Parts: sequence; C-alpha cells; structure tokens
Amino acid sequence: MINFLQLAHFYVRKILSRGGVAIDATVGNGNDTLFLAKTVGEVGLVYGFDIQEQAIQVTKERLENEGQAKQVQLFLYPHQQPWSMVLPKSLKGNIDAVMFNLGYLPHGDQSIITKPVSTISACQQALAWLKPRGLVTIMLYTGHEGGEEEAEKVLAWSRQLSADRYSVVLHQRLNRTHAPMLVVINKLDDKKPSQKKS
Ligand code: SAM
Repeated sequence: MINFLQLAHFYVRKILSRGGVAIDATVGNGNDTLFLAKTVGEVGLVYGFDIQEQAIQVTKERLENEGQAKQVQLFLYPHQQPWSMVLPKSLKGNIDAVMFNLGYLPHGDQSIITKPVSTISACQQALAWLKPRGLVTIMLYTGHEGGEEEAEKVLAWSRQLSADRYSVVLHQRLNRTHAPMLVVINKLDDKKPSQKKS
C-alpha cells in the first residue's frame, strides 16, 4: 500500500526537480527535508522551519550524513511568522513546493503540536510564496488531542479557496478511523482559470 507520505512525495516530484526551490514548513525528523534536498540537488534550495531545537539538530545531522546539507537552510522559526524576515524576498512567488506535516514530533515531546490558527496563517503564506503551478501538501493527523480540531479547520480553510486560482484535492482513507489525510493544493496558472461548468 502506498502511504500518504509517499503520496505527498509523488505529487511534489511532479512539480519539483533539480535546481528547484522548496520549503519544509515542519522539519521534524527531516524525512521531508531530506527528500526535498535530494530532489533539488546541490544546485537547488530548500528552506526548513521548526520551533524545536531537537528537530533542527536531528535534521542537520541527517542531511550532513547523507551529503545533502549544502542546499538546505534550517530555521528555528515559527512558520506563522513572516517568511520575509528569514527568506530572500526575491523568492516570493517563485517557490515550487511547500510541505506541511502537522501534529507532534515523532519520538519527541508530544505536547508540542501544530495549532489551527498558526497552521492556517502559515498555509496562507505558503500560497503567497508559491509560483504559478506550484504545490502545497498538508498532512493532517486526527489521532492526537487537538488533531481533529486542526484537521477540521484546515479542511474548512482549504475548501473556501478560489476554484479559479487553486485546485484543492483531499486524500482520505474512508475505512479507517483516525487515518491521516492529505490535502494537495495546486496554484493554477494566472492566465488559465479553471473551466466552469455551464
Ligand atoms: N515532516 C517531519 C518529518 O519528516 O519528520 C515531521 C513533522 S512533525 C509531524 C511536526 C513538526 O512541526 C514538529 O517537529 C514540531 O516541532 C513542528 N511545529 C509545531 N509547531 C510549529 C510551528 N508553529 N512552526 C514550525 N514548526 C512547528
């Protein structure tokens, strides 16, 4: 069975290639950061945010061990804060892909979780920094306290995005309770609004 993390990578690979620019908005143990770094190669750029020193350290070591650190910059910085404070402003509107993997740090402090208001604020920034045809992936978990509420709020926010500007897809396993969900948001090309049904 393809899990949703692999599915998120599948989508990102369709958009992101060697020399591209990507953001991991929730670095955690670095699985997605490493994947993004390998995808863009040493000529690309990856930026990562996390609020836990442990996540930044573990990921830094992992990237170094894999020879993938050169193209990655990690920030101990909350993703809801202005990205323009840490990222080159020239990248606004030029990011290929942004990945979110919500919830708590696996093998870490499970009381430190992503929260609905800050998550949505970060997702809004992600859309603003994305290039046309760029992609945002959001992995949602409902098994932990606060997860259900966060998932509901993120889904409600995703649903109200303009259909002319974004394609929004939800992957959800229907025959398992508390299964993760994957939201994939594709920014549409400005010149080509989606066709409306007559
Ligand atoms: N993508 C990661 C991986 O591949 O290992 C897993 C991410 S983990 C599920 C969620 C991470 O989000 C945690 O490391 C947590 O510290 C981080 N986080 C929580 N709130 C945050 C915030 N406001 N800004 C940035 N990161 C945050």
